This record gives sequence, structure tokens and C-alpha cells, in this order.
Amino acid sequence: MHRVLAAFAVLLSLSACGDRSAEILARALNLPADVSSICDMPDMLGLEIDDIGKGSGGCGISDPVKVYAVGGIKLAAQPRLNCRTALALHSWATNEAQEVAKDNGVVITEMRVVAGYACRGRNNRRGARLSEHAKGNAVDIAGFTFSNGDRVTVLGNWNGRKYGRMMKALHASACGPFGTVLGPKSDAFHRDHFHLDTADYRSGAYCR
Ligand SMILES: [Zn+2]
Repeated sequence: MHRVLAAFAVLLSLSACGDRSAEILARALNLPADVSSICDMPDMLGLEIDDIGKGSGGCGISDPVKVYAVGGIKLAAQPRLNCRTALALHSWATNEAQEVAKDNGVVITEMRVVAGYACRGRNNRRGARLSEHAKGNAVDIAGFTFSNGDRVTVLGNWNGRKYGRMMKALHASACGPFGTVLGPKSDAFHRDHFHLDTADYRSGAYCR
């Protein structure tokens, strides 16, 4: 709990200085010592990693990053993404999602990421069109931890009395920062997570 509060205290002063703040935030969130600011976003921490899999059937990411924290929110697993998608995650998490949390009297302290880069077809089906996950454009979120200590999951709390409405608001709030947002309402593949991606669709955002 102290660690969480320390992280947010650091965030308040983050605009003041650069690398040193990233270091302090990393320590407050108990992240590995080698993480630093990524994608030119001072309070997004992670690692710049080697290009992934160029040439393997359309899969791969140029200049990928591995994301450990967005603002004061720690990611329980660290997705490999392109910067465009990492920045969308940062923007949604620190603005719209925290706004929803605030409306519900809590702060999001952790997000349970269950997928980032993966060279596969849509919905894990062989032969299906390549998933946005295969290009570093997508991240899946299965749950959240709040400042009051509560841990919620998409599967367990989507229709729950205490957090059901909030889960739906979190889902809806991602529409805009991300061009495609899928969840339990879309199909059985997404009953336990939110799929968020930054693919371009000429017809505009697709959220359900
Ligand atoms: Zn997904």
C-alpha cells in the first residue's frame, strides 16, 4: 500500500525532472532496475527490445518495447507492443480508465495484461486472418487491482453487483483511445478479457 502511494507521489512531481524520476517511479513500483522511459513518454516505463520476427508470415514488430508500467499503474505481465499501441495504452489507462476509477472512489494500481505480441491468427484459430497481436497492435486486459486492495476480473465481475457497472464503463472508455475494443458482449472468445487494438479501420472505431 505504501508502495502504491509512493508511486503516485512520484507521478505528481514527474514533470519536473527526467530520468531520475523514472528511476524513482521504477523503484516505487518495484520494477527491475534497468527499465526506463520508453516511446518518449516520461512516465511509461519499460525496455526497448530487438525487432521481432520480421519476415515470418507477416508477424513482427519494428522498434518494439516491452511495457512494465503506464503512469503509476503496474502491468502484471509485460506486453511487447509497438510504440503507437503502448502510447494508446498509456493514454487510456492514465486518463479515461483512471477517470472511471475515480468516479468509483478508487485508483487503478495494476492491470492484469494477458497478451501482447503473439504470432497467431484471430482468436487463436489456425488459418484465420492474422491477429493484430501478430503486429504489436493489440493488448488484452483480464483484470484490474484497485487502491482499496480489490482485484477484479472481466470474467468474474462483468455482471457483478459491486463492480459490474464499473467494468462496463472501463470497457466503454477504451473506445477512442483504441480503434477496436472487444469484451464479453462481442463473443465467447472475449468473455474473460478486453481486447484493445490500434488497427486502422476506415469505418471508424469498432467497439462492442
Ligand atoms: Zn486480443
